[in-house]
Amino acid sequence: MKIRFTPAEEAFRAECAAWLQERLDGPFSYGGRDATLAEQVIFAEEYARSGAPGRVGHLGTELAGPTILHFGDDLQRERFLLPIAKGEEFWCQGYSEPNAGSDLSNVRTRARLEHGPQGAEWVIEGQKIWTSLAQFADWSFVVCRTEEGTSGPAGISYLLVPMRQKGVTVKPIRQMTGDAEFNEVFFDGARTKAEHCVGKPGEGWKVAMGTLAFERGVSTLAQQMTFRNELERVVAEARRNGAARDPLIRQRLAEAYTGLRIMRYSALRMLSRATTGSLGPEALTYKLHWATWRKKLGELAMDVVGAPGELCRDAGYGLDDLPYLYLMSRSDTIYGGTNQIQRNIIAERALGLPKEARGDR
Ligand SMILES: Cc1cc2nc3c(=O)[nH]c(=O)nc-3n(C[C@H](O)[C@H](O)[C@H](O)COP(=O)(O)OP(=O)(O)OC[C@H]3O[C@@H](n4cnc5c(N)ncnc54)[C@H](O)[C@@H]3O)c2cc1C
Repeated sequence: MKIRFTPAEEAFRAECAAWLQERLDGPFSYGGRDATLAEQVIFAEEYARSGAPGRVGHLGTELAGPTILHFGDDLQRERFLLPIAKGEEFWCQGYSEPNAGSDLSNVRTRARLEHGPQGAEWVIEGQKIWTSLAQFADWSFVVCRTEEGTSGPAGISYLLVPMRQKGVTVKPIRQMTGDAEFNEVFFDGARTKAEHCVGKPGEGWKVAMGTLAFERGVSTLAQQMTFRNELERVVAEARRNGAARDPLIRQRLAEAYTGLRIMRYSALRMLSRATTGSLGPEALTYKLHWATWRKKLGELAMDVVGAPGELCRDAGYGLDDLPYLYLMSRSDTIYGGTNQIQRNIIAERALGLPKEARGDR
């Protein structure tokens, strides 16, 4: 098992750190080199360590890009990958619907193939919800039913749909943080070319699951660097306001630090397996671990801040960063698969327990 980066990978880390240091004052993009998984993780770690702003394009680089690379055809790779890497086209994830969240195979959004003057096109009708960053997205990867009379995973296709067209309406949903990061998305005769279907029509379920594996797995390996920055802010506040003298707060800070170290070693363990082409059970437990850890960090942050954490900075709902962390971290155990669903997955795939009883099997 490899639990540290090689000297060559550490050299790449130094290169990234220097590059970021030079460019943080101005606009920049990344990509274009045939980076290994370890190099991608190192880049993301250094990005987080440098305190650079969050990236609007992450759903493209971390979900759409790897999916198209892995499951798409040459034309799709040629059309979509470079604009993702260059930060020229942003993406959003069209999975969840009002009646299809954990049970994604219950999607009702439909698409039918039509032949017209523009050639063959998918015509899409339906509604998605909780679509993060849809208001900024140029494209969405949309899971929809394309075969009449099917239910469950059969008859679902994975379509790449342009967002900036007449048949797409985006309505922001305001969250408890005060932001409106996610949205309702309505497809009312929206269109996309026939060739923008990833995988075969009707066989999109395995593509959709592939994207989820990227979302729950390797794309999150570098997150612990962001989490480390957050924990450091909590510790700094505890020192500043004296909460660090409370023995129970001290224990919880130490527990958070330990959890973060465990997360780092789990990430390295996953990475070491992923570079040999296989993923072990730690890939299944990782999302559960980091999401639960961060939710507890948010709760700890509020206890450290104390009563002032309940005040908004201004009448416009402005929150300081630690109360914001508390509210935002509540979503970690929900998106990308809830904790309950992750436990079901661990029970079935890692422990080999009998499959959960469901209506459709
Ligand atoms: C911040 C945020 C961003 C998001 N961004 C996106 C996005 O960009 N695109 C997108 O498509 N979706 C997005 N989502 C939606 C997210 O994927 C869903 O919220 C999630 O899959 C859960 O679905 P649901 O909300 O419908 O809850 P439900 O599936 O209705 O679940 C409700 C509760 O029941 C539990 N439950 C359900 N089924 C089972 C079961 N079989 N066994 C045990 N417990 C179960 C769940 O764990 C949960 O506690 C986002 C969500 C959040 C919070």
